[in-house]
Amino acid sequence: MTGPELGTRRRVLVVEDNPVNLELTRALLEELDCEIVVASTGDAAVRMLASVRPDLILMDVQLPGMDGYEATRAIKAIPAGAAVPVVVVTAHAMAHARVLAQEAGCSAFLTKPIDVQLFKETMRCFLTAA
Ligand code: MN
Repeated sequence: MTGPELGTRRRVLVVEDNPVNLELTRALLEELDCEIVVASTGDAAVRMLASVRPDLILMDVQLPGMDGYEATRAIKAIPAGAAVPVVVVTAHAMAHARVLAQEAGCSAFLTKPIDVQLFKETMRCFLTAA
């Protein structure tokens, strides 16, 4: 593999219900040498958090059941999730979505379609600090 890599393999919990988005995200995270665990709902993400112990959570907003903001609040409320950075990825680029993400406790906010360079820089930033 070429390009900058992280020194230690990091585990990322990807909360995404769309298979096409998931495959793009998976490809990008694999280029960063991350281990990937997938949850297709926020509820599943909350339930698997304590056993998965991710270094970072990538959170879609539009999900079946609770949305990504609700899921982030639920994650932040449990001990296994309180310190895990959550990066929200949403097609809703308006300022209001950014505010909602901040209020829910998200660490960063990315918009779809994914800017590959920005995505990788953001991942590296949080995973290097982990
Ligand atoms: Mn979705």
